[in-house]
Amino acid sequence: MAAGTPLSYSSVRTYLECPLRWKFLYVDKIPEAPRGYFSFGRTIHSVLEELLLPLVTPSARTTAPGLSQRTLDEWKGSSAPEPAGRLWSVEEMLARYRTLWVPDGYLSGDDEARYRRLGEEMLMGFHASLGKHPPHPVAIEAHLEARWNGIPVHGYIDRIDRTPDGGLEVLDYKTSRELRREDAVESDQLTLYQVLVEKNFPDPVERLTLYHLRTLTPLRTPARPQAALENLHERVGVVSDGIRAQAFEPTPGRQCSRCEFKAQCPEFREVPEPERVRLSELVDRFQALRAREGEVERELRATAEALHAEAERLGVHRVPGQHGVALRRRQEHWTFPPEVVGPLLKAHGLVPASVGADGAALRRLIRDPKVDAELRRRIAEAGGRTLQWYWDLEEA
Ligand code: SF4
Repeated sequence: MAAGTPLSYSSVRTYLECPLRWKFLYVDKIPEAPRGYFSFGRTIHSVLEELLLPLVTPSARTTAPGLSQRTLDEWKGSSAPEPAGRLWSVEEMLARYRTLWVPDGYLSGDDEARYRRLGEEMLMGFHASLGKHPPHPVAIEAHLEARWNGIPVHGYIDRIDRTPDGGLEVLDYKTSRELRREDAVESDQLTLYQVLVEKNFPDPVERLTLYHLRTLTPLRTPARPQAALENLHERVGVVSDGIRAQAFEPTPGRQCSRCEFKAQCPEFREVPEPERVRLSELVDRFQALRAREGEVERELRATAEALHAEAERLGVHRVPGQHGVALRRRQEHWTFPPEVVGPLLKAHGLVPASVGADGAALRRLIRDPKVDAELRRRIAEAGGRTLQWYWDLEEA
């Protein structure tokens, strides 16, 4: 994929997770091994596309309800030949399902058979639901492209429905085991689809929906507000800029567990066999030093505390050893409660921000003879001082 090629939702997500993985997929075009659940999703989407496509008329993009789509009754009752179309019977739909079945990537014959049964149940449930909740699609499996503030984007949208108010509802089917309402609320995919639909259709997007096929549940949310669109646009911009700059650094994370490019990825490159012994010695030494580092730090702290206690008892700050002198140093920190000093400064026409919230600026003010003496006294009284002791060494 060259810079300037339209970005899809999955491309953006992949780049944000790991730019190097994006490069393997979109530039080097290294194929990934097929996976059963992707094949299953593709099959179900294909059946639903063919099942509902006859509902959409070429004039579907107009807002007039009579023109926007056929009614389900017209669709069901029609015995006319195509293109009027009619609703498939369950048997016809299942026959098509068997034809469209993508058999790739299943773990075993049993695994595939389980998915086949699941798909049948899903589709039969969906078919039955059409009578109860007739859809009003204006587009099915629509490929939309747009320039989003200069960035080319695109997406395949499962379904766009007309709402009762004349607006649009953007739907994405999900075959996953579970789906929560928050998934619809937080879905960047739906946000991008809203942008694509708004830039390609004259009517407003009213609702965004993830349709959970296992439970036949539409998880609906209102269209995203401007702030959410801007937030996603910023991230899409990061991706677009990164691709243009050919920034393809590996970014290891949780996604590595399902990444198939570990063999090509420098993050997972193995140390060559002849170097292993030598490098493992270095690693062991580093580890041993690390362990001692902590031990030495603890001992250093305990010795400094013991020295401090003795110096306090004797009232001294210089303690000679055989090879050098330990010097006790002091560091002080001042804090001024803003609820006390703020009103005091304001009353004297000094804006707190101009003095600075830090103790150093207020201490300069306390020492400044040009500032009102009473104000300086009151601020000094409000301040609290903490002392920290530390030890320095002077070589003998
Ligand atoms: S293994 Fe991890 S770091 Fe390497 S390309 Fe894959 S996702 Fe990126």
